[in-house]
Amino acid sequence: MKVLVPVKRVVDYNVKVRVKPDNTGVDLSNVKMSVNPFCEIAIEEAVRLKEAGTATEVVAVSVGSSACQEQLRTCLALGADRAVLIETDEDVQPLGIARALQALQAKENADIVIFGKQSIDGDNSQTGQMFAALTGMGQGTFASELNIEDGKAQVIREIDGGLQTVKVSLPAVVTTDLRLNEPRYASLPNIMKAKKKPLDTTTPDELGVDVKPTVETLRVEPPAEREAGNLMSILVVAEHDNSELKPATRVALAAAAAIGGDVDVLVAGAGVDAVASQAAAIAGVNKVLVADNAVYANQLPENVAALVVEAASGYSHILCAHTTNGKNFMPRVAANLGVAMISDIVSVESEDTFKRPIYAGNAIATVKANDAVKVVSVRGTAYDPVAAEGGSASIEALDNVTDAGVSEFVSEEVVKSERPELTSAGIIISGGRGMQSGDNFVLLEGIADKLGAAIGASRAAVDAGFVPNDMQVGQTGKIVAPDLYIAVGISGAIQHLAGMKDSKVIVAINKDEDAPIFQVADYGLVADLFKALPELEALL
Ligand SMILES: Cc1cc2nc3c(=O)[nH]c(=O)nc-3n(C[C@H](O)[C@H](O)[C@H](O)COP(=O)(O)OP(=O)(O)OC[C@H]3O[C@@H](n4cnc5c(N)ncnc54)[C@H](O)[C@@H]3O)c2cc1C
Repeated sequence: MKVLVPVKRVVDYNVKVRVKPDNTGVDLSNVKMSVNPFCEIAIEEAVRLKEAGTATEVVAVSVGSSACQEQLRTCLALGADRAVLIETDEDVQPLGIARALQALQAKENADIVIFGKQSIDGDNSQTGQMFAALTGMGQGTFASELNIEDGKAQVIREIDGGLQTVKVSLPAVVTTDLRLNEPRYASLPNIMKAKKKPLDTTTPDELGVDVKPTVETLRVEPPAEREAGNLMSILVVAEHDNSELKPATRVALAAAAAIGGDVDVLVAGAGVDAVASQAAAIAGVNKVLVADNAVYANQLPENVAALVVEAASGYSHILCAHTTNGKNFMPRVAANLGVAMISDIVSVESEDTFKRPIYAGNAIATVKANDAVKVVSVRGTAYDPVAAEGGSASIEALDNVTDAGVSEFVSEEVVKSERPELTSAGIIISGGRGMQSGDNFVLLEGIADKLGAAIGASRAAVDAGFVPNDMQVGQTGKIVAPDLYIAVGISGAIQHLAGMKDSKVIVAINKDEDAPIFQVADYGLVADLFKALPELEALL
């Protein structure tokens, strides 16, 4: 079995990037560059498959400038057998990369292609899904466990509500989440050996693909000018659990309202009458399209994306919430429509221009989509959700059903909680490594009960097994912006701050007065949390 692992050269995760004074981008001169951490996890997984005798060859591939050779050599030192650089000086974007990899895959015929779930610079979370769409492969995204058996990849996926298990027929795409494995370090002898391993170079031209970007990062940010009389027609794909429409849908609808024009909602699921009625009741919704069929019950991305592509005709914009579900199917929609996707927008500047955070929110890019159809995911904190009531949209059934047949739902462990959802909670109290154990989270629960708060966590607390993955706040977890965020025993790493620094009021409790969290906190308490939390609870 051959494993192909696409890897990206990015700024090292410890570097805090700075925006250039002329606003043309971020300053990358003299900063340390590394293999994207999620790609490193992908390489590790591939090498483990080889060590276990499941895989016979691991091929690392990168698309970019000649400098990417450095990261490919690192992959060879970590255990890849050979490497391929698809060399280009274009500012390549996910769709272009997916096309280049599709052409390479036509030659390599890998049985499994393991991507990182996102790169820590662009934070798009698109390339693996787009590649899967272009090659017609099934996908197991955000994997925290991978097993290959009987020609299928069984993947446990980290989703917003907990964990989901799917089986995908090979050849398949897997994208890695943080807890899939802990990558090894390259030993000196392996670094030396890597110098002799083959590293071939090709180009997009040689592969016969066009990697020119269709999304422009604008040099300046002029106020958007709306063209008079240019009416948009927008389709918002609903986020729901078959019984309830999630608030993130109403945030996407607020973004749709900012674009302006007719707004329809697509509900794909099974037994979704209640969801359709909730969508129809939302003010400003014109029409609700409902695809009610068992093949959409678990939001398998291969099926949902095919449905959205069919329904897309006539729409200028297709929007969804930037949730694990939206991130799963929407890049497939974009790739199948042959257009770029704009992920995780935080504001609409005009019908084709959007703002989105990059580099863990340390820079905000204003990007312009030049494709005819704009495919966009909206960050859950971008806008206040539109009102849930006041509308009376018509409901129309869609009877075209697509079952791609390349993947199957196995099971789901959704965490049930009486507490508010993290992404829509007004108050959040989060615990970090300083909590020392999962049992100690009871100290946060007492306070959360009194405040009506949701409970979150840092990655360190999740990795240590204190709490489940769906509680992780941060660049690669959930993005939150409550009225009040209380960080307890959390140091304030940039990846954590990326997920909560837009909170209106931040309170930090930490025994280390130099902890970086105090630099963003409105109120800081330098104290031992085991003393401070019971005192706080008693005072509430
Ligand atoms: C690719 C990548 C993605 C990442 N994504 C995320 C992400 O989405 N979210 C995220 O959170 N992190 C993420 N991280 C990890 C991040 O870099 C940090 O490692 C992590 O946030 C640290 O968690 P922490 O603050 O709980 O732990 P630590 O940094 O260990 O901090 C623990 C804090 O607790 C304090 N403390 C200890 N005991 C007590 C006590 N008794 N009373 C009071 N204070 C105490 C300490 O002073 C310390 O400041 C990511 C990293 C990478 C490389």
